[in-house]
Amino acid sequence: MRHPLDPGYRVTNSFSSKHPGTDYAPPKAGQTGVPCYAPETSTVMASSKGTVEGNYVILQGLVSGKFYYFGHFAERKVAAGRGIQEGAVIGILGKTGQASGIHTHCEVRSARNVPFSGKVDPEKWFKDNVKEEPMFNEGDRKNWLTEAAMPDSGQYRNLVGKVTFKEALETMRRDELFRINPGDVVNLGKALGTNPAKGDKWKDYGYALNQAAKAVPSTPKDEYVPYQLPQLFTKKG
Ligand SMILES: [Zn+2]
Repeated sequence: MRHPLDPGYRVTNSFSSKHPGTDYAPPKAGQTGVPCYAPETSTVMASSKGTVEGNYVILQGLVSGKFYYFGHFAERKVAAGRGIQEGAVIGILGKTGQASGIHTHCEVRSARNVPFSGKVDPEKWFKDNVKEEPMFNEGDRKNWLTEAAMPDSGQYRNLVGKVTFKEALETMRRDELFRINPGDVVNLGKALGTNPAKGDKWKDYGYALNQAAKAVPSTPKDEYVPYQLPQLFTKKG
């Protein structure tokens, strides 16, 4: 996940019982051309214009399942129905609709069109979820590699998942995970019986990979063929 604004943004109105979102303004008042980014890989649920909200965009994050609402854009850069990557520019800060200055009103919702649903403070949400460190630390990686190299028939079923996970880790680092085509994530979700579009909780891609690992059918040891998890995904060049 990333913050929807580049560093230097100003919060001009915080989340409260009367204000269901956070207002993000450019570093300098009145500054134009400031981009707003998709906080996570998402489906664009709406991209439209209203008299109050101005140019607005609603995303649903494929990782968290949350809905992200942004209003008052000068320009919208995404079309409804499209899958977009984390970090894609979704709009340019503006003051369309009922706004006195250039900013975007941002809400993080549990239900698409319901302000305050889940009572999420956007700034807190981003501070809690935007992490710089790798999703998987090197210690875990080494443990998985070690276990994978020393098969134990008693733990075979367990191992299948770990070998799979190991393969995924070897071939897909965090920066690659975030370049996965959102459509493939949805396909993976369908294959695993979870549906991010319906709000099933996907804490992160690590969870998705874990679920994929668990979905590997148990096979007799001598028939074991490494499961190629990355084939479920189509990496974009
Ligand atoms: Zn606001």
